Amino acid sequence: MTADLDQALERLQAAGLYRRRRVQDRPQQPEALVDGRPMLSFCSNDYLGLANHPEVIAALQRGAEHWGVGSGAAHLVNGHSAAHHALEEELADFTRRPRALLFSTGYMANLGIISALTGRGDTLWQDRLNHASLLDGALLSRAALRRYPHADAAELGRLIGEQDTRMIATDGVFSMDGDLAPLPALALIARHAGAWLLVDDAHGLGVLGREGRGTLDHFGLDAEQVPILMGTLGKAFGTFGAFVAGSETLIETLIQRARSYIYTTATPPALAEATRTSLALARREDWRREHLQALIARFRAGANQLGLPLSESPTPIQPLIAGSSHQALAWAAELETRGILVGAIRPPTVPEGSARLRVCLSAAHTETMVDRLLDALGALRPETPNASP
Ligand SMILES: *Cc1c(COP(=O)(O)O)cnc(C)c1O
Repeated sequence: MTADLDQALERLQAAGLYRRRRVQDRPQQPEALVDGRPMLSFCSNDYLGLANHPEVIAALQRGAEHWGVGSGAAHLVNGHSAAHHALEEELADFTRRPRALLFSTGYMANLGIISALTGRGDTLWQDRLNHASLLDGALLSRAALRRYPHADAAELGRLIGEQDTRMIATDGVFSMDGDLAPLPALALIARHAGAWLLVDDAHGLGVLGREGRGTLDHFGLDAEQVPILMGTLGKAFGTFGAFVAGSETLIETLIQRARSYIYTTATPPALAEATRTSLALARREDWRREHLQALIARFRAGANQLGLPLSESPTPIQPLIAGSSHQALAWAAELETRGILVGAIRPPTVPEGSARLRVCLSAAHTETMVDRLLDALGALRPETPNASP
């Protein structure tokens, strides 16, 4: 039996698809220590630089003193603390929606939402490049999953036609491409079809819109146009967990039916206290978003000048498309020899033939750091980025 597995692992190795973990020896920050070696990192989703913020750390410590560590039970048993409750109210206020509901992770939130609202006999449409958790939620729900070409609302409208559709689900900001979903057009299609629209804004919240209210605020869409907003707390907010925001009826339905909500232990209350602090910082400190936008503009101007294969991304996720997995790995390895860490993203995370370097910028980076990255990218051997088709 393990012989089969060994062979499968060898095939992954040969195809350049093998994945390895690195051991981080410091808190999340650009100046990383990786497997004992100092590296400048452009890998994290800590877009606002809050993961290691002293006020957030202090809130977690105070929270642990007050609440202990474990929540001890699921939310529906007796694990739902006043700290969780206050955070839910603050998330509802932040997203301008009647209610918000905490989930333990974004992965679990998507499984829970989709399987609670769709089932056998329903049709569910998803963008081809949606996050894996949205796809897995569809599989779990047993609804018929149909996928439309990436960000192509016109094609989705044509495909749906007059068909009965229960839900349309999309990333707000696409996690491996950094581009935005065409939400205004999707909202119109969903309304016309009488379908739920679910937007997973894991990478937009905190980063885009007023106070970091995300992709919906960026497009000026309200809770009627996008009835289900899902967000994660482990990215721009720098902590851990996720939430869904929407109507009273939606949230009550999820509490009754979402199995990934019901059958799991509530996250530690101290974590909720930490997130309350980071949410307040994220809302208040516009300078983090402004600095991040300046870094994005600097990176894009520099990369353009170097002739690097940039994509159309207005967000901190800046992919450089390599094509083959071996090419993406070769670029990442070469950057690594220069002390720069950038993720090489390969299938099945991205479609075959579109392996890439995924540069992630953060408000914790400085302009000098971005310049160091550009220098290293510019010094790659000629058969690497600049020469790629
Ligand atoms: C990270 C991510 C998730 C999963 O969130 P976790 O809290 O890490 O489980 C879901 N959707 C998208 C688009 C993501 O980027």
